[in-house]
Amino acid sequence: MPIATVNPANGETLKTFDPLGAEEIERRLATAAATFRTYRTTDFAERARLLNHAADLLERDQDDIARTMTTEMGKPLAAARAEAAKCAKAMRWYAGNAEELLADEHPADAEVKDSGASHARVHYRPLGAILAVMPWNFPLWQVVRFAAPALMAGNVGLLKHASNVPQTALYLEDLFRRAGFPEGCFQTLLVGSGAVEGLLRDPRVAAATLTGSEPAGRAVAAVAGDEIKKTVLELGGSDPFVVMPSADIDRAARTAVTARVQNNGQSCIAAKRFIVHTDVYDAFATRFTARMAELTVGDPMAESTDVGPLASEQGRADLEELVDDAVRRGATALCGAARPKTPGPLAGGWFYEPTILADVTPEMRIHREEAFGPVATLYRVRDLDEAVHLANDTPFGLSSNVWTRDEEEQLRFVRDMEAGGVFFNGMTASHPALPFGGVKRSGYGRELSGHGIREFCNVTTVWHG
Ligand code: NDP
Repeated sequence: MPIATVNPANGETLKTFDPLGAEEIERRLATAAATFRTYRTTDFAERARLLNHAADLLERDQDDIARTMTTEMGKPLAAARAEAAKCAKAMRWYAGNAEELLADEHPADAEVKDSGASHARVHYRPLGAILAVMPWNFPLWQVVRFAAPALMAGNVGLLKHASNVPQTALYLEDLFRRAGFPEGCFQTLLVGSGAVEGLLRDPRVAAATLTGSEPAGRAVAAVAGDEIKKTVLELGGSDPFVVMPSADIDRAARTAVTARVQNNGQSCIAAKRFIVHTDVYDAFATRFTARMAELTVGDPMAESTDVGPLASEQGRADLEELVDDAVRRGATALCGAARPKTPGPLAGGWFYEPTILADVTPEMRIHREEAFGPVATLYRVRDLDEAVHLANDTPFGLSSNVWTRDEEEQLRFVRDMEAGGVFFNGMTASHPALPFGGVKRSGYGRELSGHGIREFCNVTTVWHG
C-alpha cells in the first residue's frame, strides 16, 4: 500500500510520500533509545506541563487538522473537529491524573511481614520505546489515547500510522515537538506494514500496541510473542445493540442511527447488530429504517453531510461483498444496499448508502464478520435468553449496548455479555476515565483510565528487609 493522501470523496491522489530508508529508521531508533534514558527521569509535573501545552496547540490547530483528517479519510468535518477536541481533553485528563494513577502502592506492613520485609511497595516505572501501529479511522484519537498515557508514564513513542493518513501522522510528530517534548519522545515513522516486524524485533523497542484488523493484530502479536514483548491489541468489533420491551423506543431508534453510521460506519465500537425483542420489533424497525433512509450522504466537507465516503475503494468493495452475499442468501434490504444513485459530485468517491438488512441468518458472512461501513443487521428475538445468545454469537467481544429500564434484566446482561463493555440506554463511547478494550477476537489489554496507563509500565516490587 503506497504511503499517500488520496481523497476518498473523489479518488484523487493529492500527495505521496517515500517510506523511510534503513539509515533513517536506525537514526530514529537510536534517538528514541537515547531520549528515553533521560526522559524517564523527568517528573510528572514536567511531563504534564508539556502535555497540557500540546493540548493547547491542538485546540488552536483544530480546524486545520480536522480538514486534513477529512481530506485523508473522509469523515464529516464536524466529526473531525470533535475528534480533535476530544484528543485535547484526553491529554489534559492524563496530564492531571497520571501522577495519582501511577502513585506507589503500599501494602500494609503486616500483610508482607511473613515475607521477611519490614515494609514493601509497588512502584510503576516506564518500559521504554513503545511502537504504536495505528489505523486511519480515528487518525488523531487512536494515536493520542496511546501517546498521552505513554508519555505521562515516562515512555517514548514510535508511531507507524496507516499508510493512507501520512499528513495526520506527520502533524502528530510536529505537535509533540512544538509542545516542547524532547526530540525522540514521539516520532512518526513513515513506513509500510512490511517494516513493522523489523521494528518490533529491535531490542530498542520494548513493547507494541496495535489498533486495527484481526490479521494485522495476529501478525504483530506473533512477532511480539516470539520476542517476548508485551502487546495491547484493539481489533475489530461487531457490537450488539439490544432493544428490550421496557426501552424508550424512539430514543433507541435515534441513537441506533448514530451508533451505526458514526464515522461513516467505520468504527470498531459502532453498534453493528441490532437485536430487538419481538414486542417492540416493528415499532423500532419502522423508526430506525425511516431515519437511516433520510440521512444525507455526500461531501464530507459540507456541514449538511451525515455520512461521507468510505476511506478506501477496497473498504467499499469489502462492504459490498458482505451485503451482496447476505442478499443472495435471502436477507431483506429495508433501505440502501447500493451506492448512491445520484451521480454528479459523488460519482468518483467511495460512497455507500446507509443500509439495514433484516432476515439475516447464520450462513451469511455478515452474521459473523465485521461490516466496516454504514450497514446494520436487524434481528428479531423472543426473549432475553435469545437476545444474550445472539449477542454473544460472534467471534468479537468489544462492547455492547442494551436498551432496557428493567434492573433485573440489566444485571443479567452485565453477568452474561461476552464483551469489554455493557452500555445501557445509550451508545458505546470512549472516555479517558473509563477502560476501553475487548475480549475474544476483539483483542486484549485495555486503553485509557488507570488500566491503560499501567499496560506499559514495569510494575516493580520494592522490598525492604
Ligand atoms: P489494518 O489492520 O490493515 O491497518 C491498521 C494498521 O495496521 C495500519 O497501520 C497498517 O499499516 C498496519 N498493518 C496492516 N497489516 C499489518 C501487518 N501484517 N503487520 C503489521 N502492521 C500491519 O486495517 P485496514 O485499513 O486494512 O482495514 C481492514 C479492516 O480492519 C477493516 O475493514 C476493519 O474491519 C478493521 N479495522 C478495525 C479498526 C478498529 O478501529 N478496530 C480500524 C481499522 C480497521 P498499512 O496502512 O501500512 O497497511
